[in-house]
Amino acid sequence: MRMGKKFNVITLIIIAVFTAAGVAFYFLAHYLFEGTTALIVCLAGCLAIAIIVLIFLRGYVTKNIVQPLKNMHTNSSAIITEISEGNYNNRIDIKTGDEIEELADNFNQMASVVQERAATLKDVLKKEQNVIRSLTMLSEMMGFITSELKIESILQTFLEMTKNLLKVEDSGIFIFEGEEKELKLFKTTMKGDAPVSLDCARAMLAGPLGKAAKTSSVLRINEVAAGFPPDHPAVRNFMAVPLRSSKNKMSALLVTINKNGGFTPDDEDTLFSFAFQAFQSLALHEEIARLAVTDGLTGLYNHRAFQEQLSEETNRAERYFKTFSLIMLDIDHFKSFNDIYGHQAGDHALKEISKIIRNELRTADFPARYGGEEFILILPETPVDGALIVAERIRHAVAEYQFMSESSERLLLTVSAGVACYPDDATPKEDLIKKADHALYFAKGRGRNAVCTYQETIAGIIKKIPEEIDAILKDPELRDIEKIAHGIDAKSHYTKGHSLEVAAYAIMLGKNLRLEQPQMESLRIAGILHDLGNIGIPEYILNKQGPLTQEEKSIIQGHPGLAEMVLIKYPLIDKVLPAILYHHERFDGKGYPLGLKGGEIPLLARVLSIVEAYQAMISPRPQRRRKTREEAISELRKEAGSQFDPDIVKTFIESLQEKKGGSEQRASLD
Ligand code: GH3
Ligand code: MG
Ligand code: MG
Repeated sequence: MRMGKKFNVITLIIIAVFTAAGVAFYFLAHYLFEGTTALIVCLAGCLAIAIIVLIFLRGYVTKNIVQPLKNMHTNSSAIITEISEGNYNNRIDIKTGDEIEELADNFNQMASVVQERAATLKDVLKKEQNVIRSLTMLSEMMGFITSELKIESILQTFLEMTKNLLKVEDSGIFIFEGEEKELKLFKTTMKGDAPVSLDCARAMLAGPLGKAAKTSSVLRINEVAAGFPPDHPAVRNFMAVPLRSSKNKMSALLVTINKNGGFTPDDEDTLFSFAFQAFQSLALHEEIARLAVTDGLTGLYNHRAFQEQLSEETNRAERYFKTFSLIMLDIDHFKSFNDIYGHQAGDHALKEISKIIRNELRTADFPARYGGEEFILILPETPVDGALIVAERIRHAVAEYQFMSESSERLLLTVSAGVACYPDDATPKEDLIKKADHALYFAKGRGRNAVCTYQETIAGIIKKIPEEIDAILKDPELRDIEKIAHGIDAKSHYTKGHSLEVAAYAIMLGKNLRLEQPQMESLRIAGILHDLGNIGIPEYILNKQGPLTQEEKSIIQGHPGLAEMVLIKYPLIDKVLPAILYHHERFDGKGYPLGLKGGEIPLLARVLSIVEAYQAMISPRPQRRRKTREEAISELRKEAGSQFDPDIVKTFIESLQEKKGGSEQRASLD
């Protein structure tokens, strides 16, 4: 009953009770008493009735109004507290059938509305957070794409990001090329012993994934799907998103697997918006990256791509104890070919030779144009004999090929090749290139249209060592070592006496540096033998009047390494070899063969470098006049700290100045 109505009824009852009680008391009092007494009794009776009615009224109001209102207040306060704590499920339960119940209902409705809105807000917030996460990842991904050239490592990062974005166990991507959707690459974040082969990836495409790759809609399967073996442990549920580059050149199928609770339509949106954008940039980048690593004329890899691949191959070979070979190829007499038949015919021949090279290689091999008409090939997991066969095959194929001039004249060309092998011939990668180049140079020396391995060149040099030198070096005491100096210096009339003088200056400086006796002995031997590698350098280079070509310079720079290769088979003291190998290193790190710097360069090599340079400066050389002692000293001072160790230069200059006997006094071995 409504509250107003209830009060009307109560008022009527009270009036009726009072009236009835008043009349009853009036008659009863006048019946029993008289006069004033009857009046007092009547009034007292009425008062008692009034008190009883009031007590009843209070009880009624407390039960029907005050108590429900109290309940209402307690329940609503509790609901407010719980809502603030995220619990929206409590409601007020009041059944008074009046306005208080209606008030409670209204309050309950308000709580339900708040509950609904909060759920929607939570949803929106979650979506917003997902959008922000995927945008952040997208921008990270874009940054990575622009800073990285290798598609493999970009894809790896892309997959790791999709994994984090959806909090899945693993992701994988199939990359297809062209309209026929030929599978080009497969990558996954799953950790296995070896990368998944393309054949294995093709087998995976036989089931539902293959169908998904052909459609443009997302495939979401939240139970182990048909197409996977029933006992397949790796896939509980998966989502596959087909992707396509804007020019349809490249397409992909991105697969994410095993999300706790399965994949939702929201996951689909999140993944698609991230992957779509990233894939567009990736496809574009792939095209740009392909152009960036390709030589424009021949379509082979360019110099930079080769250097990167060589580093990778070296790391791989080092890590897994593998071997690989380098073949360096150079077209014979190509300058004349250009001069006679024109540059266009030359360019055409370069393209044809590149095709021949490609045809003779396996897919795992890496052919690059190293420079103008020089090619360099990396042959992974190929020892020197295998590489020699490949080089011979290419040489033969080029020699057999008929090139065309502009006037359709049939022309012949040949190539020469040098082969070097990791790790037998050299370990640091720059060194390996030098070794292949060195072998190439020897192949040219054999009359061109030839292939030579680095080992053959070394064997050739060692063969050139006369028997008496061999016998001296075999003597553990190295008693007649000075005699070798004459053999080394005799290679060029410019170097006559060089080795012995270098040794004498080295001893003089060693004494002033207060070196111990064993070090002094090593220094003397290193001084005498430091140019032993010159045995392998053609005399015309050592005696050349004009400036040296790059090729000739690199042959000269190979002499410390050659000396080491020759000497390593003799029982020399360990300390002698580093002094010889590194005597052309510079204090500032710009020397050869390794570019060692400052204290990294062995002490004896730093000593040898100064005295050798000084001896060379005060001696005549084919390319320049000899310097006076003062000029040479001032040159040493100038180069102290850059080419030479400044402290040792200082001691050397002091020892020179201490030396009596006039400015042109030369050191001798006595
Ligand atoms: P060698 O047998 O000693 O190698 O003799 P060569 O004449 O080939 O000598 P070299 O290797 O020094 O010659 C390089 C020549 O290759 C110079 C240049 O005329 C030619 N060349 C380099 N790059 C290109 C190119 O891109 N196109 C053409 N047509 N010729 C090139
Ligand atoms: Mg060349
Ligand atoms: Mg050439």
